[in-house]
Amino acid sequence: MKPKSYPCLKCGKTVLEMYPNRKKTSDEKKMWQYGIVFQMTAGYGSAHDGYVFNAALCDECIDSGVDEGNIKFIMDYIHGGKYIPLKGDNK
Ligand SMILES: [Zn+2]
Repeated sequence: MKPKSYPCLKCGKTVLEMYPNRKKTSDEKKMWQYGIVFQMTAGYGSAHDGYVFNAALCDECIDSGVDEGNIKFIMDYIHGGKYIPLKGDNK
């Protein structure tokens, strides 16, 4: 099965599904290479109240977003500790 992909919202780079032959699950719960696929839900006050969207950000744009203050880092639920951006050889 061909892997799914999403374009990064910011730069357009491909975020690629890692295991396309695994059991079906929603996109935001799958494993993705080179970034994050996430779900956005709109609440009261938005013109899109009640809508649910999926979108992606690549790893580099997550780093720049955190650095610029446009993305808020909340926690690392695997390792704990502070935010660690990609190192040169991972980019
Ligand atoms: Zn990007």
